[in-house]
Amino acid sequence: MRIVLLGAPGSGKGTQAVRLVEQLELPHISTGELLRSAVEAGTELGQKAKTVIDRGELVSDDIMLGLITQRLSRDDAKKGFILDGYPRNITQAKALDEILERQGQAMVEVLHIDVDAELLLQRIAGRAAEEGRSDDAEEVVRKRLRIYAEQTAPVVEYYTAKGVLSRVLGEGSVEEVFQRIMSVLLMHTES
Ligand code: ADP
Repeated sequence: MRIVLLGAPGSGKGTQAVRLVEQLELPHISTGELLRSAVEAGTELGQKAKTVIDRGELVSDDIMLGLITQRLSRDDAKKGFILDGYPRNITQAKALDEILERQGQAMVEVLHIDVDAELLLQRIAGRAAEEGRSDDAEEVVRKRLRIYAEQTAPVVEYYTAKGVLSRVLGEGSVEEVFQRIMSVLLMHTES
């Protein structure tokens, strides 16, 4: 199964990805994590990405394409994956289509984890206090949410038009959201 998780910052898609990985035994591919590892490792890519991430902006499509192509070509991704953080704009969505077509596995299941904007802000404020992520400062978060609305929301439309997207309400407990996701997936594997 090839699953793409879409959701605003604070929607809980990272948390749900971890649950899904346990349940489905598929690799978790998080572009945020891939970038943060590159930053920590101090690679050239990481140094370039850090400034952009800390400003709350999107890393360039070129860099992301290299990163994701490389990751998806690894053996463990052949049986499927949980993709979290990519695509974040229409260019990336089309690039992903091409990569998967080339690999002969064009079908994806897209889950949009939908959370009210006010709740997103509250959750990220909580996470900032707990984890101290450098891009969780309030001003930066507002920018990330704005970029999500401008660039990533169209990706929701893109997959809706293709008929491969399911909306999942991302409010309530982690367990409740997870159960909603699992029932969508179950429905689709049965049909
Ligand atoms: P969140 O989902 O909370 O925004 P992520 O961990 O997914 O956090 O991403 C953190 C940051 O990494 C983003 O704000 C962005 O700067 C960068 N990033 C992650 N994925 C992408 C992507 N597909 N394209 C461009 N930038 C990305």
